[in-house]
Amino acid sequence: RGEAGTPSHEHVVCFEVIARHGIVGTMCGIVGYVGPKSCVEILVDGLRRLEYRGYDSAGVAVHDGKEIRVLRSVGKLGNLVAALKEKPLHGSPGIGHTRWATHGRPSETNAHPHVAGGIAVVHNGIIENHLALKRQLVEQGVKFASDTDTEIVAHLVAREVKAGHDLLTALRRALAVVDGAYAVAVMSKDEPDRIVIAKNASPLVIGIGDGEMFCASDIPAILPYTRSMLLLEEGEIALLTATGVEISTLKGEKVERKPKTITWNAAQAEKGGFKHFMLKEIHEQPRAIEDTMRGRIDHEKWDVIESEIGVDAKTAESLKRVYFLACGTSFHASLYGRYLIEALSGVPSTCELASELVVRDPVLGEGDLIVAVSQSGETIDTLAAVKAAKERGAKVLALTNVLDSAIPRAAAAGSRR
Ligand code: GLU
Repeated sequence: RGEAGTPSHEHVVCFEVIARHGIVGTMCGIVGYVGPKSCVEILVDGLRRLEYRGYDSAGVAVHDGKEIRVLRSVGKLGNLVAALKEKPLHGSPGIGHTRWATHGRPSETNAHPHVAGGIAVVHNGIIENHLALKRQLVEQGVKFASDTDTEIVAHLVAREVKAGHDLLTALRRALAVVDGAYAVAVMSKDEPDRIVIAKNASPLVIGIGDGEMFCASDIPAILPYTRSMLLLEEGEIALLTATGVEISTLKGEKVERKPKTITWNAAQAEKGGFKHFMLKEIHEQPRAIEDTMRGRIDHEKWDVIESEIGVDAKTAESLKRVYFLACGTSFHASLYGRYLIEALSGVPSTCELASELVVRDPVLGEGDLIVAVSQSGETIDTLAAVKAAKERGAKVLALTNVLDSAIPRAAAAGSRR
C-alpha cells in the first residue's frame, strides 16, 4: 500500500517479477466466429474451454442481420448462459470474451464486448496510454459507458469508421495511437460479413474451417472445430470472412503465412507445449501473480481497491500476525508464502496444517489475518479451520482457484487465485 501515485514496496516487487519475465496482460478469453451458423453456442463453448484461465465476467456480441446484440454478465459463464436462455441471441458473426479486470471493477457494464457507434470490441490486455486517450476523447465529447481501458478502442474505431474508413483500416488507424499489450477482435454493424483482429503481446490464433472462420486467444478454445490454424505474430492485423483470411502488419505490409495443422489433442493443447501441467503451472507463476492482482489494484492511484480485498487500511495496519492455513500442496506453498509475507510486510507470519488447527484450541483473535489456501476452495479441513478462526474473531482471506467455492464463501473476503 503506497501513497497515491507511489507504488509501494509490494507493488514494486510483484511488478518486477512480472517485468523480468516479460509478461504483460495476456490472460482471459477471446473467441470469434464468422460463417453461416448462428454462433452463440460456439462462442460459449469456446469460452468454456478457456475457463480454467480464470475470469470475473463474460459476454458475447452477435450480429443478428440488422444490429449487433450484446449480452454480458458478472461471475460464472453459467450466468451468461442463463441470461442467454432468457434473451436468446442468433446470428453471425459473433465475438465472445471472458474478462479478468485490469481497469474498472468486475461488473456488467465493464464486461466486454464494449460497443460504440456500431462497433463491438473484445480485448485482452492493457491499453497503457488509456488515460491520455480517454482525456482526448472526452474533450471531443465522447461519453464513456464503462471504466475500462478497452472501451477507448471501440470509440477510436467508431471514429475512424465515421470518417469513411472500412473496418480493417479503421482498426489499423485506431491502433496506431494505442500503446500497450492487446489482442482485440472487432466487428461492425455495417460490415456483417467480417471480424477484424489484431495482436500485440497477447496471443491470438485464427482457425480455418470449411466455409467458416474462427479466432481465439488460445488454441484449445477452437480446436474441436478445426485443426488448421494460423498464429498471428506481434504487430499483425487480420481480416476474417467466412471464406478467407488476409493478414498484414499494422503498418500495412501484406503477410503471407501458411496454416499449421495442430496435431495435439485438446488436453495436450491445454498444457501449452509443456510436458506436464505441473511444469506449465511453475512457468505460469509470474502471470498468476499478475492475474491475482488484477482488478484489485487501482493503476491510476497506485493503491489497492479495498472493496475488492475485503480488508480495509485500518484493519491491515492493526494486524499482528499473518497465519497461513492449508493442507497438502497448498500447505507447502504456504510455507514459502509465509517467508515472503514476513519479508515484504514486516508482520510476523506463520503457517499451520489446517487439519492440526481444528484438533486443538488455538489462540487466534482480532489481530490475526488468516490466509486460507486451497486450490479447489473445498478442502474440508481448511474449511473447518476457517470457521474455527472466524469464531475466534480473526480476519480471513481465502486464496483459491475457484470463485464461489466453500472456503471463499466462508471467509470474510475471497481471492480468485
Ligand atoms: N484491460 C481490459 C479490462 O480491464 C481487459 C482485461 C482482460 O484481459 O480481460 O477490461
